[in-house]
Amino acid sequence: MRRKFVCGNWKMFKTGSEGADLVRELRQRVSTQAQIAVAPPFTALESVKQALAGASIQLFAQNCHFEKQGAFTGEVSAPMLKALGCDGVILGHSERRQHFGETDETVNKRLKAALEAQLHPIVCIGETLAEREANRTWEVVSRQIRGAFAGLDAATIARTTLAYEPVWAIGTGKTATTAQAQEVHAQIRGLLRELAGQAGADAIRIQYGGSVKPENAAELMAQPDVDGALVGGASLKADDFARIIAGAR
Ligand code: PEP
Repeated sequence: MRRKFVCGNWKMFKTGSEGADLVRELRQRVSTQAQIAVAPPFTALESVKQALAGASIQLFAQNCHFEKQGAFTGEVSAPMLKALGCDGVILGHSERRQHFGETDETVNKRLKAALEAQLHPIVCIGETLAEREANRTWEVVSRQIRGAFAGLDAATIARTTLAYEPVWAIGTGKTATTAQAQEVHAQIRGLLRELAGQAGADAIRIQYGGSVKPENAAELMAQPDVDGALVGGASLKADDFARIIAGAR
């Protein structure tokens, strides 16, 4: 039985003090067996870490560079995040792919760097509306997964989490139906059997992301291959995020 995993992606919202206030409120409200994480912007990581001291909520970053250090202005490396106290990192989010030129190849390099730094990676994949309407969902999602995991052995792949986030559902209020989510998650599980073996496929969590709200979270996460959620907008309010977490059983 896979332990559910819910992560809040704050995107480019919250200063350090706003983020610390949010997690202070959240930690009072959360009592769960599930794995819980928040991913603030880089500038809020330190103060959120302090506000989380002694809590079971984990600290994730939203991206990392693939080199350990060097002349890469504006970038932050995986060992730097580890040294700061991060537990993990989100990689290949569709907003990174869309606005910042991320490709399957750079996601693969960042994933290797994160794993080497002992950060738990959440690798995001998902199709656009045009790709879904052209019946290319599985072609795109399977290419992204194979690309992200290129050169990794089964045991290493088993150390990752995937987040299936249909791009048309992110920040739009349009959630995939439970059937649409489960269908793709089951296909992903099948591919993981090929790439990570039966034990790996059974162990890897596949989160759903895309307009997850308190009203739809429990039903989505009750699907057999939906092992949690990556939550954007609704993770910015302690009450909403706590209600989503309560749906992770
Ligand atoms: C996300 O940013 O990963 C996301 C799923 O956003 P939202 O929940 O706002 O759709």
